[in-house]
Formats: sequence, C-alpha cells, structure tokens
Amino acid sequence: MKTEELIENEKNYLMQTYTRPAIVLDKGEGMKVWDLGGKQYYDFIGGIAVNALGYSHPKLVQAIKNQAEKLIHCSNLYYSEPQIILAQMLVELSCGDKVFFGNSGAEVNEGAIKLAVKYFKEQNKDKHKIIYMKNSFHGRTIGTLAATGKYKYHKDYLPLLPKFKQAIFNDLNSVKEAVDDQVAAIIVEPVQGEGGINIASKEFIEGLRELCNKKGMLLIFDEIQCGLGRTGKVFAYQYYNVEPDILTLAKSLGGGIPIGALIAKEKVASSFKPGDHGTTFGGNPVACAAAIAYLKVLQEENLVTKCKEKGEYFKKKIKELKEKYPKFIKEARIIGLMVGLEIKKDGPEVVKKCLEKRVLINCTAGNVLRFLPPLIVKEEEIDYLIEVLDKIFKKI
Ligand SMILES: *Cc1c(COP(=O)(O)O)cnc(C)c1O
Repeated sequence: MKTEELIENEKNYLMQTYTRPAIVLDKGEGMKVWDLGGKQYYDFIGGIAVNALGYSHPKLVQAIKNQAEKLIHCSNLYYSEPQIILAQMLVELSCGDKVFFGNSGAEVNEGAIKLAVKYFKEQNKDKHKIIYMKNSFHGRTIGTLAATGKYKYHKDYLPLLPKFKQAIFNDLNSVKEAVDDQVAAIIVEPVQGEGGINIASKEFIEGLRELCNKKGMLLIFDEIQCGLGRTGKVFAYQYYNVEPDILTLAKSLGGGIPIGALIAKEKVASSFKPGDHGTTFGGNPVACAAAIAYLKVLQEENLVTKCKEKGEYFKKKIKELKEKYPKFIKEARIIGLMVGLEIKKDGPEVVKKCLEKRVLINCTAGNVLRFLPPLIVKEEEIDYLIEVLDKIFKKI
C-alpha cells in the first residue's frame, strides 16, 4: 500500500490516540530508518529508548529467529528455559533477588504497587498508599496513571484511585510532608524521562532511602526508561549510593520486543505467593530470548561504557550549541544518552523541522527536545544532529 492510502486507513481503522507525522516507517538498520517512500532518517529517539541496539542488530534478530523456530509461547503453566536464564542474568546484574516478568512498563509498575501492598498485608499492617512525584511518568493503566504526576493525563479519568499522594521531585521536604502511617512505598524515576530529563539529586535519592528506612516504607525505582545502560551505568541507581527494594525495567530490555521486569529484594519478593499475581504472556520465551541477547550485546560490545563516552561527547556539543544560542536554549540536562534540551521556543516546531531534515527527535514536557539515540550512536552522527539543530536554530 502507498503512504497516503495507509494514513487514510489509519484514520479510518485506528483509535485516534496519537498525533504522528505523515511518514510510514518501513525498515531500519543501526541508526538509520527508512520510510515507505525510501527516504532515510537518523533516529535520535530510538523508539523512545527502546531500540538501544539500533535497528536490526544481527545478534538480536538471530536470537528472536532461533527461539521462534523452537517455541514461541507456552504460558506460565510450564517452565521455559529463556525465562529462567534471563531472570538469573538480571539478578546477577542488579541489586535484586527475584524477578517477575510482564509485557510492558505499566504492567510491571502495577506489579510493583501490588507487591508493595502485599508485603505489608503479610505483616498485617495497613499500609497501602503510594507516594509519587510531580512530572513523573509510570504508565497509562488506571493504577499507574494515578502515580503519574501529570494532570493532563488525569483530568478525563477522575476520580482516580485514592491510594496515591503526590510530592515534588528533588524536594525531600515535600515527600516528608506526604508521608503518613499508611504509606507503603515511594515510587520514583532516578531520571525522569517523559517529565523532560530531570535528574534526581544525590541528596534527594539518599534522603528517600533514609526516609523509607526510618518510616518502614519501600523504595521503588522505575528505571523503565533510564535503566539498562542508558545513563552510562547499567542502572541509574548506581550513580547514587542507594539501592531500591523494588526495581522496574522495560523499554530497552527486549531490544524492541515487548517485555518488562519487576525485580525485588528477597524479603519483599517472597510476599508474592502462588496465585497472587500473574500474566498470560509475561516471560514469553521469544521476549526473554530477545532480552538475553540484549544483555549479552550490552556486555560484548561494551555499550554501557560507550554510552557514557558518547554522552560526554553529546554534552560537549550541546554546550557549544547552548553558548551559541543563549536566547534560544533555556537549559540542557544530560546523563549518558538521555539528553533533554529545554528551549524557549516552540519545541514541536523544531521536531517538525528536524523531520524535514531527516532526523527523528521528540519533544516532551512542553518544550524539552528529547534525544534518546541507540547506544551504538557514532560521534559523526551526533555531529550531524548538531549541525541540523544549528541550522534550525539559526533560522528561527
Ligand atoms: C515508558 C515508561 C513507562 C510505561 O511503559 P509502557 O511500556 O508504555 O507501559 C513507565 N515508566 C517510565 C519511566 C517510562 O518511561
């Protein structure tokens, strides 16, 4: 089908929940992706931090093919090898002891909230509330939506669940004020992604840990966007001297195949008993095989270190741009290859202009240009992006 016809059919047959530019993506390789008309783009949003290995990484593709030929699905009524191997890898890599697999970010955050509540139920304690941060993003399900600090997403679905209390990111006092005896857990992204690349301060994260210890609450880190190498460390919490009780991962974990992981310390994980939680697809063999391949490539290609180096390079380039356009750029927030460039002009307009120049980026939280390139991005490709931005900024 032709692009125009497909787009017309999209309007006819899909719920209109997305506003997208008029291109139909067809195939990709590395940093590059092509639309149906054969136009080539450099992808600096990487499927929203999902395509961390770029497009069509041969080892990822091979792992998916091999597993699909063997066993695509068997449900959680039975054991399967990829699921068990992946769980062991994640436990060895992280501070957690046990894993539960879901299919998406929202789904494992739901699991995290249930697990926290169950943990206190086991002890006959009435702790069921969750503190979340303003400008956070934890998902679009009814539960995770209530933990997402954006009124825009709430307003048409009120009333939401009464469990959730909002505090201010990087403001420990606001969290202290929200604490009461019924609070089970605090959920936080060490680096807020959708919120505009907001990096938690050391004092904030350390303060949250201390507060949780003191008040007997659990600390949940949502590393769905910032985890698995993206910040230049395997996990963002490694930048802080702090371990969470519960950790959630998704986005890049399957390199593009949907999978999420809920990881917890043993004392917490053990409160889930047979029948307490479950899913049909979670931990699916193909998804787990993809995630195993992702973690292997991360290690074999030294991508976490490379991410840190490329992030430093990106930072230097963005700094130069900022000095050149002080009236245009408000602030740059960068950690590894999570890059947020807050501008004083119309962000969506810049995104549109980038697309015209065949570069895919995104705008979030008002006017924050967001770049989440694959971890395999090269310096020349970053140079190209900067050149494009320079040209656009010059014109506006
Ligand atoms: C994307 C995201 C989610 C939700 O993940 P889905 O797979 O879209 O449900 C949750 N938390 C964070 C930090 C995210 O970036």
